[in-house]
Amino acid sequence: MHRSGTRNTRIIIIGAGIGGLAAASALRQRGYEAHIYERASALTEVGAGLQLGPNAVKVFKALGLEASLRANASEPTKLTVLNWNDSSLWSREPLKGVTNSKYGGSYMTMHRADLHRIFHDTLAEGSIHLGMQCVSVSTSNGTAAARFTDGSEVEADIIIAADGIRSAIRQQLFGAEELRFSGMVSWRAIVPMECMPLRLGPQGSVQLERGEAFSWLGPTGRVLCYPIGGKGESLNIFAGTQSNVWADESWTTPSTREELLAAYAGWDEVLLELLSNAGENCFKWGIFDRDPRFEWTKGRVTLLGDAAHPTMPTLAQGANMAIEDGYVFAKSLARHPEDVGLALTAYLSERLPRTGMVQMQSRKQFANNLKVPPPPFIDRSWIYYHDVTRDAAV
Ligand SMILES: Cc1cc2nc3c(=O)[nH]c(=O)nc-3n(C[C@H](O)[C@H](O)[C@H](O)COP(=O)(O)OP(=O)(O)OC[C@H]3O[C@@H](n4cnc5c(N)ncnc54)[C@H](O)[C@@H]3O)c2cc1C
Repeated sequence: MHRSGTRNTRIIIIGAGIGGLAAASALRQRGYEAHIYERASALTEVGAGLQLGPNAVKVFKALGLEASLRANASEPTKLTVLNWNDSSLWSREPLKGVTNSKYGGSYMTMHRADLHRIFHDTLAEGSIHLGMQCVSVSTSNGTAAARFTDGSEVEADIIIAADGIRSAIRQQLFGAEELRFSGMVSWRAIVPMECMPLRLGPQGSVQLERGEAFSWLGPTGRVLCYPIGGKGESLNIFAGTQSNVWADESWTTPSTREELLAAYAGWDEVLLELLSNAGENCFKWGIFDRDPRFEWTKGRVTLLGDAAHPTMPTLAQGANMAIEDGYVFAKSLARHPEDVGLALTAYLSERLPRTGMVQMQSRKQFANNLKVPPPPFIDRSWIYYHDVTRDAAV
């Protein structure tokens, strides 16, 4: 990773999720040593996969992390979409090589823990402070302060709140706003690649090959499978289905393989057989989001990632947007090193319109997926073409 000399601006990041780590990594490349305060006592990521679009992959390239990404991620060869009830072919598009030449970045899939580690490895030792739950922030005379449950207080020139979809800092700054339950519940599971069906559809008319991503689309939801691991050794399953209620207080709750299978009763047998490989230790997520908001900054504190723009996973862009946010934040600060206020304004003016449009298109795509028959996917090339690193020279 290319780095410039150390700069003095004091930066605190609350939350060591994908957004917080991406921001710290991008800042370090520009010579800023941010300190991250994370409430968890150990750094862990949920056992599930993640898709990275060409737009986020461009950020890895700009940070000098493309080789690490390629060593830990898969690049699916194609995306094949199947009909829910008989696995007949709905659409098939090439991905490997094509997305790179078309959009300037590959389409990659990987385990979340690997993504975490790639960013983590770029940071200075001692820059992540675990077991530190932030309870409040404030700004006074151009200095920000964060307070923690243990009674300690840390001052900074800027605080980035990357504390996720249920951000306490967002609530403190802008007031309580209910999350919107999107009408979607999802399961995530990882199974050995050997479980992947290779011939399916009427009279075995569809052949799948290892290394491709494939999904079933039906009137109540979608199941998407893709390879993860540097050698594509595992298959990640994301199963999203329509639901009117999410009764639980928490957004993730233990489930069972039986409950997962029941949600897809009547879908093609091949899919049910694949789902039956999901381990007993199965979790489901209620999918929530919020309307776009047009102010993320108060004083010297700003929001980043899900804290700023929680997004439905239908376009698989939530983490991608958090990674872009981190890069743009560092770029804006490097461009206005003497004027933190201007840097924050530059960050917002670049990020607000784009993240808001992605939030809204993710909702629309979810609604479209439930139509019978579903219309063609909404064009997402504007998301992939975008390159937050293009005008990065300072
Ligand atoms: C089922 C599902 C599938 C998804 N698939 C994809 C995908 O394929 N591609 C994609 O781009 N996105 C995907 N997403 C979205 C993606 O997971 C999120 O957008 C992303 O994880 C947001 O990162 P973040 O860093 O903003 O928040 P988080 O990852 O939630 O991190 C927030 C961190 O802040 C910490 N924290 C919280 N409060 C405090 C506090 N008060 N003090 C200190 N620390 C605190 C938390 O412990 C956590 O470590 C998916 C989401 C879901 C639910």
